[in-house]
Parts: sequence; structure tokens; C-alpha cells
Amino acid sequence: SKDLSMKNMKITDSVTLAITAKAKKMRADGIDVVSFGAGEPDFNTPKHIRDAAIAAIEKGSNGYTASSGMPELRQAICDKLKEDNQLDYKPENIVVSNGAKHSLHNVLMAICNPGDEVIVPVPYWVSYPELVKLADAVPVLVETPEENGFKYDGVSLEKAITSKTKAIILNSPNNPTGTVYTENELKTIADIAVKHDIYVISDEIYEKLTYDGRHVSIASFGKEIKDLTIVVNGMSKAYAMTGWRIGYTASTKEIANIMTNVQSHATSNPNTVAQYASIEALKGDQEPINEMVKAFIERRNYMVDKINSIEGISCRKPEGAFYVMVNISKTIGKTFRGKTIHSSMDFAEYLLDSVKVAVIPGSGFGTDNYVRLSYATSLDNIKEGLNRIEAALK
Ligand code: PLP
Repeated sequence: SKDLSMKNMKITDSVTLAITAKAKKMRADGIDVVSFGAGEPDFNTPKHIRDAAIAAIEKGSNGYTASSGMPELRQAICDKLKEDNQLDYKPENIVVSNGAKHSLHNVLMAICNPGDEVIVPVPYWVSYPELVKLADAVPVLVETPEENGFKYDGVSLEKAITSKTKAIILNSPNNPTGTVYTENELKTIADIAVKHDIYVISDEIYEKLTYDGRHVSIASFGKEIKDLTIVVNGMSKAYAMTGWRIGYTASTKEIANIMTNVQSHATSNPNTVAQYASIEALKGDQEPINEMVKAFIERRNYMVDKINSIEGISCRKPEGAFYVMVNISKTIGKTFRGKTIHSSMDFAEYLLDSVKVAVIPGSGFGTDNYVRLSYATSLDNIKEGLNRIEAALK
């Protein structure tokens, strides 16, 4: 028959796209839209990294590599994991993929059987539930409420665990909340994972964008939890390399082998030139990260203070990444300039229509009392955009 894939037809388009597509269209029509929608650093890839890619091309390093990535890059990743995270891995534990998103896909494909449950935090990064479903597993949503700093608490986490639970997804620093777990909080999660013998998929893609406290990898608490953890990281956010598409995992050799085999048939190696650029990113000058972090801290501080000065909305101060979750619950049911707000989508549409400001509705992250604002945009844009929001909520 000509039926299409029942499983894949259920994979949803991201609701965040509706607003960003509308904002883009308005921009193209010449309307001055301020966008808080960005999911990538507004910085260029540092020059020494771009130069390394050009040199690789000129040298003729343009062929296939090992499916799991060049040994030299996998060694550079091991060195990074040792230095930054006190983790001992060998190149055989590392799989380099086409971005951390692809790494997450590989992980779930490697560990899940049909009907397995994977715990996903709410608010969640939009792709987590869909990635779980792609692997024939079932996302089990666990609330990480603002009152708990947008973090899992041990009790509700343990309550969600069943005999079918295969893994917990952990994302610190977090998208969309900017939350960074403390070492003690991570230890609680590690203890639960070890006690119930379930995997932890630790998405550490925003590691370098930690402003308060310190990023700690949950895998670093000992052999038991290390064996259960699949560390996911990549170049996109730390080195402003979103378009280069390089991410990686560190895991047991068994899991790495499955991922390598799957990847060898699905995509082969990630882009060779981007791999050379990534070696330079990891081994070269790290100063550009500090400059980026300085800018993000200044913007975050401004944004958090300003938001909390506007009546009707509020936010907690995020410790990392480049997002602020704005609590809009006090605006629900209220009417502004003739428009009644019933949901985060209404709120986002109202801002876009009335003052030309684009924000991402929380419904895309499984939580309707919030909108997400990204500060991966200039301080001038942030000031202008927040002034407009203030005017819209008067
Ligand atoms: N994980 C989280 C939480 C993210 O926000 C993103 C990107 O937005 C990714 C993973 C994927 O990053 P990439 O595929 O660009 O490496």
C-alpha cells in the first residue's frame, strides 16, 4: 500500500516555528521587528577556527574519515573532557556526529527498545520528546517548576521511574530555562540513576556558557554513574559554530559501537572540513569564549532587572545558556488593547502584532505560563525590545 510512515507522521513540527516564521515575514516586508527568538550565538566563528577549515580545504583534506570522526579529533575531545570535566575517556568512547542533536538521536537509537520510557524535563527543549518518539520510546514528562529553580527534584523524579524507564534526559545549563544544576543536585540525580540502574543522557551543550556557579558533568562522580552516563556536547554554542554541525558523545564502548554502526549507514562521518575546524576550536585559543561570556552576562543582567521591573511579568535569574523564561501567568485572562490573553501563544502573538517583538511561546516547551526570550542579540536590541514589551503591557 502507499501509506506513509505512521510513526514519523506523528513527529510534530515545532510550534515555535509559527511565530518565528511570521516575524521573518514581517521583517522581509520591511517592518522593524525586534526578535528574542535566536537559538544561536550572535557571534561569528572565531577567525583561527575559520582559518583552520580553509587550510584543511587547501591541503586537500576533503575525503571521508572514520565514521565516528577522525582519531585526532576524538583525542582532542578526550583531552577536553579530561581537562574541563575530570573525565577519562579513550577515543574509542567518543562518537562525533552532525551536531549534538544528531548525537542525541544516535544515543536514543542505541539504547531504546520499543515501549521504553525516557524521562524528559518540563519545560523541555523542543526536540527531546520527538527524538524519544523517533527511537520508538515513550517520553515521560516530569515537571521542573520555577519554584524548584526549573530543576528536577529527587522525589518527583523517582516517582516517575517505572520498570520500563531506560533513561533520564538532563540538560544543564538548560534550554529553555538557563538553569544550572549544582554539584549536590547532580549527585542526587546520579544516586537515583545508579539505584534504579538507568541511563543519564547528559546534554552539556551550553557548558561554556555558565555564568554563576560552575559546570559539573554528572559523569564525574565515579565509575558507576560514568558507565550509565552518555555525555553529549558539541561545538555549536561554545564556539559559535552552529552551522558547522559538529557534536559528540562520550559513553561506554558498547554504546559508542552501536552509535558508530548506525551512523556509518545513516550519514557516514560528519563533515571532514568541520572536523578540522573543531580540532582547532578545542586545541586553540579559548579567549573568544571569555569575550562571548562577558557580553552574555551583561545582557542577562540587564534583561533580568528590566523584566522584573515590568508589571505583570517576572523571571528568575538564569545561571547559564542565553535564555530567560519569563513568567506571564499574571497576564493570562487580562485584556490589552482589546486583545485577551488566554495562552502563551496569545501573548506572543499580541507582542508581535502590537509592538513588533518576537518571543517564543512556552507551549513549545510544554509550559503555557511562560515565554522564552533569548539574549543572543545586541544590548541595543534588548533595550529596545524590552521597552516595547513594557509599553505593550501598560
Ligand atoms: N541541546 C540543546 C539543549 C540545544 O538547545 C541545542 C541547540 O539548540 C542542541 C542540543 C543541538 O545543538 P547542535 O545540534 O547545533 O549541536
